[in-house]
Amino acid sequence: MANNFIEAVVEKDIAEGRCESTVTRFPPEPNGYLHIGHAKSLCINFGIKEKYQGKCNLRFDDTNPTKEDVEYVDSIKEDIRWLGFEWDNECFASDYFEQTYDYAVELIKKGLAYVCDYSAEEIRQTRGTLTEPGQESPWRNRSVEENLKLFAEMRAGKYPDGSKTLRAKIDMASSNINMRDPVLYRILRAHHHHTGDKWLIYPMYDFAHPIGDAIEGVTHSICTLEFEDHRPLYDWVTENCGFVNPPHQYEFARLNIKNTIMSKRYLKKLVDNGLVDGWDDPRMPTLSGMRRRGYPAEAIKNFCAAVGVAKANSEVDGALLEHYVRDCLNRTADRVMVVEDPLKVIISNLENEEIVTLVNNPNEENSATHEAPLGKEIYIERSDFAVNPPPKYHRLVPGGMVRLKGAYILKYISHETVDGKVVSVTCEAIPDSKQGGVNANIKVKGVIHWVDAEKCVPVKLMKYSGLLTDETEDKKDFDDRINPCSLEVVEGGFAEPYLAECPSGSAFQFIRAAYYKLAGKEGDKLVFYRIVELKDSFNK
Ligand code: ATP
Ligand code: MG
Repeated sequence: MANNFIEAVVEKDIAEGRCESTVTRFPPEPNGYLHIGHAKSLCINFGIKEKYQGKCNLRFDDTNPTKEDVEYVDSIKEDIRWLGFEWDNECFASDYFEQTYDYAVELIKKGLAYVCDYSAEEIRQTRGTLTEPGQESPWRNRSVEENLKLFAEMRAGKYPDGSKTLRAKIDMASSNINMRDPVLYRILRAHHHHTGDKWLIYPMYDFAHPIGDAIEGVTHSICTLEFEDHRPLYDWVTENCGFVNPPHQYEFARLNIKNTIMSKRYLKKLVDNGLVDGWDDPRMPTLSGMRRRGYPAEAIKNFCAAVGVAKANSEVDGALLEHYVRDCLNRTADRVMVVEDPLKVIISNLENEEIVTLVNNPNEENSATHEAPLGKEIYIERSDFAVNPPPKYHRLVPGGMVRLKGAYILKYISHETVDGKVVSVTCEAIPDSKQGGVNANIKVKGVIHWVDAEKCVPVKLMKYSGLLTDETEDKKDFDDRINPCSLEVVEGGFAEPYLAECPSGSAFQFIRAAYYKLAGKEGDKLVFYRIVELKDSFNK
């Protein structure tokens, strides 16, 4: 069954024999890293391949050499693989430059293209407006011979950059501005990451794209809504270049997420201005940033599926993405104990170190376990003890009891203060109060996490939040909305020793706190990235 209107078209086309199976393509311009918006396009294009046993090509739309780079080509491939997609052919629009040139020559021969001596600015000025037609170029009626000669000379380097273009001869009075003799080729002396210095003229995206699609036998060329007005030109190109059974273009609404930058150009600015530490900074909405932060690829795909494919633009709440991240991690992440702001607790009646067994993931049947040492001195969270507790405070208080996660019930005995600040609490462990013990059923309201004071490992926590603050009346531009507190670094906490043995890259639920990824080590400290908080703010 079709999941969206594009799949419905595909099913109809297969049923009516317009195509046997599908060929789609993902066409990034290698001018930046992929972001979460691209994931949506990837899921649509590769989703069709998987569902209809079709093919999906990766085609780099590299017609803009000044902005493109192999670094981006490599990162794009890595990100697509990470999402779990495999492309059939790896192509470059520049692979077809020779053929594209030949098609342009064909158009000239058919009297459908001409060399124009206007500058880019003059072309813009004579293009007309939505209400007024454009003016015909004085060079519109050059002879085929002259056009062929000039176009060959453009290629050979006879004219300076920007001094001539090849334009399609369509209709300067068209109600669609894209059809008013659009530029097909421009002169540009720029080193190309793929073709080197071979070319001095480059085709425009609107010309190269339909040709690339047609050469590859693409059946369904899927793009975002901004290209809807370009579709007549897309069809004009495939038709006049003589392709039989040409591809068709379908447009869907791009993904927009609240307070999230979804433009490579602007993301690049953040990188270039040093506001983040690279394209893969864990705060970036790039796929590499999300991977580094610890978002599972599966969560991103589930999110894209939930958002769906629509024909009208809208904005999604970022909480929905976090919901799917949490949903994945809840199923897969080990539960561990990390005390962020430690307060010492002395267990007066515990003479010898004990070993406590903790279940890694209570959501898993027969989950693995790990061990944690429990000695006479432990750390608990400072906020888990209160001399003057607020109402409904179910943690440790003078005269009260609390359960240590996976271990004993503690009973308060005394506490010590220095300059009004609590520096330690002394408790006694109720004998046989561990799970299964005769005193295990004593009623206590709170369960708190803890770490052994002698064997715990110091941690550094990188707590991330949004790069942008909310839009307000006077702050609409991204530049004015940079969140100054998008990274909070917290040191001074401790983790249970198990974490020192886990491989970097693993994701954990710090119980009662948040999901974190073990990023690596800095000296004796374990460094963790906060992936997402525990609380789900997404309202279904
Ligand atoms: P940007 O504005 O970030 O540079 P782009 O559209 O120019 O984006 P491309 O590299 O040309 O980026 O995009 C590759 C594919 O991904 C295109 O088919 C494009 O339509 C799609 N895409 C880009 N951004 C989004 C988005 N926010 N939602 C859905 N699809 C997107
Ligand atoms: Mg683009």
